[in-house]
Amino acid sequence: MNYQLINLPFGASELEPVVSAETIALHHGKHLATYVNNLNNLLPGSGMEDKPLEEIVVNATGGIFNNAGQILNHNLYFEQLQAPSDDNRPVGALAKAIDEQFGSFEAFKENFTAAAVTLFGSGWAWLASDENGTLHILQMPNADNPVTKGLKPLMTFDVWEHAYYVDYRNRRPDHISAMWKILNWKVINSRFSK
Ligand code: MN
Repeated sequence: MNYQLINLPFGASELEPVVSAETIALHHGKHLATYVNNLNNLLPGSGMEDKPLEEIVVNATGGIFNNAGQILNHNLYFEQLQAPSDDNRPVGALAKAIDEQFGSFEAFKENFTAAAVTLFGSGWAWLASDENGTLHILQMPNADNPVTKGLKPLMTFDVWEHAYYVDYRNRRPDHISAMWKILNWKVINSRFSK
């Protein structure tokens, strides 16, 4: 089976000014598209041709892991985004879990922001949940995903430079701080409640 580049749930300029149409064109149309092409070229003969992406990420190593991981990560990333709004907050069961575990959304934001800002090099900051519904904030390098630790990925910030360099240059903290305006908490909550 061939993996496909996902369609975005928003128009290319809809995330502006947080993420520009130019960044979306490069990030989705070039970077993610390349991971999809690479994986489709690497899979034949690997014995993993018909496996779901999550299963490939849990079991593969090397180039297959890197490209499958980056597809899974970017699908989760792009599908959780929507047009900016100023008072953007978690909803549903996840809002309650965040309040219970971190004290408040603001305290959670502080913790998650620190994880995203201080992650050294390329990688992803994750909110994930375990089988008890307990939330975890993780810093993961390169193409890694919480599924490799048996956790369910809920929300993620891409801190590879390609995610923000066109719009923010080296100012990763400014990008991270703006990202909170474009999270689609309905989508993120549905991952938690599934
Ligand atoms: Mn990326």
